[in-house]
Amino acid sequence: MDEIRVRFPPSPTGPMHIGTARTMLVNFLFARQHGGKIVFRSEDTDRARSTREFEKEILDGISWLGLDFDEGPFRQSERDAVYEKYFEQLKKSGAIYPCFCSAAELEAERETQNSQKLPPRYSGKCRDLSAEEIARFETEGRKPVWRFRVPASEIKFDDLVRGEISERGENIADFVIRKSDGQFLYHFTVVVDDAEMKISHVIRGEDHISNTSKHILLFEALGAKVPRFGHLPLLLNKDRSKMSKRDESGKPATVERLKNDGYLSEAVVNFLALLGWNPGGGSEQEFFSLDELIAKFDFAGVAKAGAVFDLERLNFFNAHYLRQLPIEELVEKVKPFLSIQAQSNIENVVAPQLTHQISGGLTKGDGGELTPEDEATLKKAVRLASERMQFLAEAPQFLHYFFGEIDPPLELFDNPKMKVDRASSIEALEKSLPVLEKIENWTAEEIQKELLALVVKLGWKNGQLLWPLRAALTGEKFSPGVWEMADALGRSASLARIRKMLDKLKK
Ligand code: GLU
Repeated sequence: MDEIRVRFPPSPTGPMHIGTARTMLVNFLFARQHGGKIVFRSEDTDRARSTREFEKEILDGISWLGLDFDEGPFRQSERDAVYEKYFEQLKKSGAIYPCFCSAAELEAERETQNSQKLPPRYSGKCRDLSAEEIARFETEGRKPVWRFRVPASEIKFDDLVRGEISERGENIADFVIRKSDGQFLYHFTVVVDDAEMKISHVIRGEDHISNTSKHILLFEALGAKVPRFGHLPLLLNKDRSKMSKRDESGKPATVERLKNDGYLSEAVVNFLALLGWNPGGGSEQEFFSLDELIAKFDFAGVAKAGAVFDLERLNFFNAHYLRQLPIEELVEKVKPFLSIQAQSNIENVVAPQLTHQISGGLTKGDGGELTPEDEATLKKAVRLASERMQFLAEAPQFLHYFFGEIDPPLELFDNPKMKVDRASSIEALEKSLPVLEKIENWTAEEIQKELLALVVKLGWKNGQLLWPLRAALTGEKFSPGVWEMADALGRSASLARIRKMLDKLKK
């Protein structure tokens, strides 16, 4: 096989979409598996919408995901001379022709086709203009667009995912490759670049299938080798609608958002790779490192049907990878999500006041470092939170009750299911206090032992004692259990919270 050469050709007209990341990942896996090369090309011909900032964001996204490339960045906006050269070549060979139709003429043509129930398509009116006609239009000051002369033949290719695909040239209108202001258009620039950069495999989203016949015709007209094509299934929302700028949660479907919400790149890569691909052979493996993916990816395992972007599944992967981290590392990763400053980067994730509460509840030194006590609490708290936390921006939600003051609502102490009401809660806290006060070795095990013994002594159900205690310690309906909480909070904070709650309940 010739050298494998693929490309990352994003249009830097917006933040890096998750679909773009997925396409890049597949290109990366394929190239690295075959010892091939990856070219990064910024397709910034849309001058009005392309920016260097978006290009940088995409490059940052690539490195955040742990991917890389071998050549580039190239920018289409800097390659006009190259396009000019190939344009002249096509002009000489007669593969393209100038079209002087005005917008109004084209519109009239479309209306006629519409009324005859024909598909709207350029008729080829300017295909065979004589030299005199062209000269006349030019003296009138009309500026032409340049169209590709689509032959009436069959165009066929063997797609890496979908197998053989063919289309009749008669069904393709002569398409514009250069606008009247001189700007070269996507079909042309993409093919010139793929030809020049000796791309062997064009791997991209299925939305480009309908462009491929045009691209093949252009490759042939340029006398270039036609690459192999592979079209990846589209990303769909859970309701199977096409996933666009936002995902089902309403958040931007971008790599940056995943990063800001505290997803780990390992989880994102694992999840993205499995969107529309499985290792086959009855394998039930779900967790793959990047290296394993490089070894195992194959086009045979790529599905033709659209791939559903299931946020819950991403959360499942992320929770798994979060729990794999050594606790010290997880704590460091959580920290930025606890500060007010981090909040400004997080869109719609947590109520700002929760983040604020934690920031307010932590004691920081001059250098922003936490006190050893807070550091120790944080470590225990994060360990507990990691059992339920799916992404780091959720951390405040699971951690805020460990820090600062809490004010549990009275309704929490009215829980018929647990056989708990205000009076029984008062009793539960009053009975627990002396037992807890006596504990010297303040560990989860010891606290558990003493409280369970008390339950037995009282002849109660566990919940009757533990629910009010847990509510007093956390102020939350859902939280870690009493002994873990009490252990993480420490003796004096735990006892203080219980006493305070007792006062409030008795009022
Ligand atoms: N710039 C194009 C895009 O972002 C590239 C399409 C292609 O891979 O040919 O959709």
